[in-house]
Amino acid sequence: MNYTPEFTDKDISLYKFVSGPYSNNAYLIVCKHTNKSVIIDAPGDPNDLMSAAQTTKTEMLLITHNHWDHLLGYKEIISRFSLKTGIGAKDSNGMTPDVPNFQICDDEILSVGKMDIKAIHTPGHTSGSTCFFINNILFTGDTLFPGGPGKTKSNEDFKAIVKSISTKLLLLKPSVVFYPGHGPQGTIKNAKKDYSIFEQNCSSLEIHGDIEWIS
Ligand SMILES: [Zn+2]
Repeated sequence: MNYTPEFTDKDISLYKFVSGPYSNNAYLIVCKHTNKSVIIDAPGDPNDLMSAAQTTKTEMLLITHNHWDHLLGYKEIISRFSLKTGIGAKDSNGMTPDVPNFQICDDEILSVGKMDIKAIHTPGHTSGSTCFFINNILFTGDTLFPGGPGKTKSNEDFKAIVKSISTKLLLLKPSVVFYPGHGPQGTIKNAKKDYSIFEQNCSSLEIHGDIEWIS
């Protein structure tokens, strides 16, 4: 493959592609033992993603949440590969490009090649938002970014995203690197540090929108 991996170890290679009108990230994770792969998210103009994926046996497309910018390339991808598509159960109704092949539940383990992919249901940005955890790498969609949570539409959603992040994602090992749906990656270690400052300084969770941990 002519693409440089973002990360590689003895078991997996991770490739990152940025495309579409909102500079979305899509990820290709390849099992080194079997050359089987999984794609995470399907933004518009997925040409590079698809050329890279074509050198592997792509078995699955996982969608972090039902927002159109993560799905603009969905039809193109499913027409090119024979793969199964999945999204968090609560986001599967009304997924616009197509009905996904399966719904993903909290704590479910999905297998591609020798990779185990753990689904973590993290409601807040959307009710079915799901993060995917593979070998110490976490894919967070629009739930967690370096510096803050994803955008929320109501105070209830903000409380939900904070709960998802603080009671699920921040319990992972500090060495875990997370890759969001837009922009650069971060570490759980830094997210924990920033969140603890937010927790100390934030007098009320009756807020929503674009919130940063440290303002
Ligand atoms: Zn989104």
